[in-house]
Amino acid sequence: MKIIERIRQSKKTLLSLEVLPPLKGKSIQSLFNSLDVFKDFKPSWINVTNHRPDIVKRPVGILGRTRNIEIRKRPATIGVCAALMNRYQIDAVPHIICAGTTVHDIEDTLIELNFLGIDNVLALRGDLAKNESCFTPKLDGHRYALELVKQIQLLNDGHFIDEGFEIDHNMNFCVGVAGYPEKHFESYDQEEDISFVKEKVKAGADYIVTQLFFDNKYYFDFVARCRNAGVTVPIIPGLKPLTTKNQLRILPKTFHITIPKDLVHAVESCNTDIAVEQVGVEWLTQQSKDLQQSGVPALHYYTMGKSNAVEKVLKIIF
Ligand code: FAD
Repeated sequence: MKIIERIRQSKKTLLSLEVLPPLKGKSIQSLFNSLDVFKDFKPSWINVTNHRPDIVKRPVGILGRTRNIEIRKRPATIGVCAALMNRYQIDAVPHIICAGTTVHDIEDTLIELNFLGIDNVLALRGDLAKNESCFTPKLDGHRYALELVKQIQLLNDGHFIDEGFEIDHNMNFCVGVAGYPEKHFESYDQEEDISFVKEKVKAGADYIVTQLFFDNKYYFDFVARCRNAGVTVPIIPGLKPLTTKNQLRILPKTFHITIPKDLVHAVESCNTDIAVEQVGVEWLTQQSKDLQQSGVPALHYYTMGKSNAVEKVLKIIF
């Protein structure tokens, strides 16, 4: 079922989860184990992230020349989606990224998804490559998520990249896109940031999922700016538990977000990892309660190996 239809039909705040595909070499069982604990909370869908390949230099031939090779550390986004649907009878939402892909790769992926009965995608540009200061698309790839949304909508309308195919059915993907309550780090200012979000929605995005945030004020302000700009689609808050002291440094750097002073002080005064996790769980519980009370369409939790902390929050919220 399409995410947008689920949201429209529900009178209460839904629950969605986000997971990473296992690292290459690892089995899917560890992912199942971390998700089994959520069965009782009846999540409405699960997002599966997508990771661009790393470029590594490898020697080739007897002359010892090196060649750039693309290696994905976390392959199989689509395979994981199929496995989750099979195990949990749940809608899985694969992330489709422009990074490291050509328009033809994307078209092939969408055909594969259609055959698997997956009609939801989250359309993203993708993270920068390591050592990249500015995003470089592949030759024949998209520069912005906007172009990806347009490609998906063209396919929904029966237009493939190359002409000459006989089409006997229509694809009909429901498309989510990303939004940034504290603005995307490459946007000049909030106004510009919202104008690009608006373009993605105008191109056919059905809903928005936000970057994580630790102060709900950022989310509410972002929603207000979107509504003022005429963006009316559902905006789903993305949430993550803070579970280690290290994250006080890493999360702002990685995701370009701020951590409120009260939370920083509470975490810094902890003497054990267990105490930090307790603080993180209490903070996220309060965030979730406030958002739920305000009537958000869904609460989207980035679980990322932190199932226990998220589970503690869900026991109170759902
Ligand atoms: P875009 O919407 O293309 O925006 C990128 C930048 O370009 C922004 O600064 C924007 O302001 C600017 N811009 C947009 N359109 C235009 C335009 N027409 N002209 C000029 N400038 C423009 N990354 C992954 O690699 N894999 C994942 O699975 C993944 N999942 C994510 C899930 C969520 C919910 C979120 C919020 C992010 C996720 N990311 C993921 C990270 C995301 O790929 C990065 O934040 C990336 O830097 C931007 O992606 P985007 O889709 O928002 O890009």
